[in-house]
Amino acid sequence: MSTPIRLQYLELKQRYPDTILFFRLGDFYETFDDDARLVAGELQITLTSKPMGKDLRVPLAGVPYHSIDGHVAKLVGRGYRVAICEQLADPATVKGIVPRDVVRVVTAGTVTADASLEASAPNYLAALVRRKGDTAVALADITTGEVRLASGGEAEAELARSAPAELLVEDPLDQPPGNTGTVVARPQLSPLAVEAALAAQFGDHASTSLTGNEAEAAALAHLITYLRETYAAALGALQRVRRVAPAGVLTIDQRTLRNLDVLPQPGRTSSLLEVLNRAKSHMGSRLLRDWLTHPLRDEAAITARFDAVAWALAHPLERERCQAVLRGMPDIERILGRVGARSANPRDLAALRDGLRAALELGARLPREDLPVVLGESLHGLAAASEALLTLDAALDDDPPAGFDEGGVIRPGFSPEIDSLRALTRDARGYLLGLERLERERAGIKTLKVGHNRVFGYYIEVSASNAALVPAHYQRRQTLVGAERYVTEELKEHESRLVGARDRLVELEKQAFSQLIESLAAGLAALQAVAAAVALIDLTLGLGEVAGERGYVRPTFTEDVVRISAGRHPVVEAALGPGRFVPNDCTLDDDCQLMILTGPNMSGKSTFLRQVALIALMAQAGSFVPAEEACLPLFDRIFTRIGAQDDLAAGQSTFMVEMVETAQILHQATPRSLVILDEVGRGTSTFDGMAIARSVVEFLHNRKEVAARTLFATHYHELTTLESVLPRVRNAHVAVREQGTEVVFEHRIVPGPSDRSYGIHVARLAGLPAAVVSRAEHLLVELESSGARPGMNGHEPRQPALFGGPSPVEETLAHLDVDGLTPIEAIQKLYELRAAARGRGGSPTR
Ligand code: ADP
Ligand code: MG
Repeated sequence: MSTPIRLQYLELKQRYPDTILFFRLGDFYETFDDDARLVAGELQITLTSKPMGKDLRVPLAGVPYHSIDGHVAKLVGRGYRVAICEQLADPATVKGIVPRDVVRVVTAGTVTADASLEASAPNYLAALVRRKGDTAVALADITTGEVRLASGGEAEAELARSAPAELLVEDPLDQPPGNTGTVVARPQLSPLAVEAALAAQFGDHASTSLTGNEAEAAALAHLITYLRETYAAALGALQRVRRVAPAGVLTIDQRTLRNLDVLPQPGRTSSLLEVLNRAKSHMGSRLLRDWLTHPLRDEAAITARFDAVAWALAHPLERERCQAVLRGMPDIERILGRVGARSANPRDLAALRDGLRAALELGARLPREDLPVVLGESLHGLAAASEALLTLDAALDDDPPAGFDEGGVIRPGFSPEIDSLRALTRDARGYLLGLERLERERAGIKTLKVGHNRVFGYYIEVSASNAALVPAHYQRRQTLVGAERYVTEELKEHESRLVGARDRLVELEKQAFSQLIESLAAGLAALQAVAAAVALIDLTLGLGEVAGERGYVRPTFTEDVVRISAGRHPVVEAALGPGRFVPNDCTLDDDCQLMILTGPNMSGKSTFLRQVALIALMAQAGSFVPAEEACLPLFDRIFTRIGAQDDLAAGQSTFMVEMVETAQILHQATPRSLVILDEVGRGTSTFDGMAIARSVVEFLHNRKEVAARTLFATHYHELTTLESVLPRVRNAHVAVREQGTEVVFEHRIVPGPSDRSYGIHVARLAGLPAAVVSRAEHLLVELESSGARPGMNGHEPRQPALFGGPSPVEETLAHLDVDGLTPIEAIQKLYELRAAARGRGGSPTR
């Protein structure tokens, strides 16, 4: 026979089978059975057991109620789902078993505890739906109440950019590329269920007013129904739904974000986000991440951002005065999320009050006149803070505790009832304290004391030596070593009055507090607008600060020409320190649609390519850019592909991946796109790679509908001959200076093809023994004088030997990937070549 509590537990556990169930028992959250074993191991806490029926001991592991957040954070972080079961009534007031239920299932996408969240990044729950050829994604960050929808081609891109912690899908086999979050399969919703879910959350007709198609409606409905099952209260925080308009944003896929180091990622030292982030609040930092992952295409909107950044740059004193307020600004956006979910505690609201006060102060420090539109509108948005501030100030004590047990949450003067109860408890307490003096006189015992403990409540204590003097109406309660404790009728009466008043007081404070939350929640949208305004001001001021400090300029937009003078790579420049980065120009226009960039390893090819893409991305995000002057078209997409061998971070260095991605570019690029190809074709043998590289160049050049601005870095010198065949192809190379026998990389990009390969010099730099290097130099001279290096003398480029070549040795040499070889491989290759030339061992391998 199990105990009733055991039965209650089993019933709940059955309803939440795929979770770890934390069961509230008094001051602890307990887990049982297999959950207990698992939790004990994962959290390193003691596994014990508990009798829960006749002849029944159950494994048990528990944590104190106040430390539950951290433990749940750990478990959710490791991929578990955690159900939180609460006591729904005060055990003291219930006869028999306390009613309990699961109030919340915490999952990766629905965590709200600070311990689980990164302050400067959003935490998304996402749903992906494919219907009748439409794809849609809905995203919600319940910590802030943000909801976003995207569909069509933008859906998967949005998913990749937002990196949701948890993804709901209808088809369990649907694993969108690059998704790293937990995937949860959900049953399809009927059209009726979709309608109902949307109407319940956003009002009637929501499905037509908020969503663009059936798939979007279904995705949004999935979010709502899932939240209803896991954390229904969070629905209160979801207010506005934003649709990502495909024509509005510059599409950057996840691979490009990674190739360009836009966001921080494990194993990389820095990122664009970190270099640009001068936001003083977490709200500003999160908004910067949003801007960098959703650059715009609408010139007016970008220009408006530039105006704000320019203002901040031109007004350093005003900027710093504002930033002083932003520093230490509480995260009102996330507190408002908790207000919406009705889970905010008194301290949260005190922080909200501080934040709103700071928001008004921020507004006061911005000048009224001559403000750019973005800042002017934000200033306007801040004004909504004042009403809520009044409400908060009237009700909330100056320094409230986090909980209600000690009282002191509600400000004196707010509620007459609370005030009079407080007076009553004060009186009762005062009376009890005064009683000590009174009883000493009455009983004539000088050492008599009135005290209090948790078990017996108030008592009168008399030392054992005086026990004989105790009046008859004293009732003995407890005997200690050397003392006796008593109560009197009078004491008991006052005590019960005190306790009653105190309980009632806690009750009333809770009530007043939840009314306060309700009134704030009623104006949630306006308050969220305050948070948004703070974020926007914070971010643009920060962008002005970084622009000033690093010498960034305001870009201009043109129809279709890229003209960057003295451009720099923002992240590499920041890492190298001031003055060490070598700036480079870049021009892409009707004359040069596609630049082929050659140069030895480590000379700066990849850096140059990425810097052009980063400058374009920064500009469209609304930031100033690292250059002396930048004139850019408004790109629709930025693609970057890095040859498989170079893309070590991907961990999937297969030629197949490289080709799949190249295919994507060729399918999706438009004349308004920017394409960065870095050593594409490298993942395969020389002939294949070069052939593919060449045909990719031809395709991008010759097809009108895909004629994207392209930068192509390659170690295939043969490709430089394309300049003479394809009118809009131009060669450039990285200048290299020879100093004696040393090679100096100047990192300067200059026109024309590179005319030498520096493999041997690099071998020397790498510390290959001198004898090996000089032998290799000798061999090189021999090989060059025999004319075996077609197209390498820079004067009369021949057609690539791909289209015909003499002996196998010459052919191999012609296509030898000298830059791509390790020194050891180079030597091995030389031995092979020699063997082949001497007629032994057949033709060399490639
Ligand atoms: P490649 O792609 O030609 O092999 P990278 O672009 O990877 O060369 O550059 C190699 C290193 O050279 C970079 O890590 C950077 O430290 C340095 N570098 C590249 N470009 C510059 C530059 N313009 N100014 C200063 N240092 C540079
Ligand atoms: Mg490179």
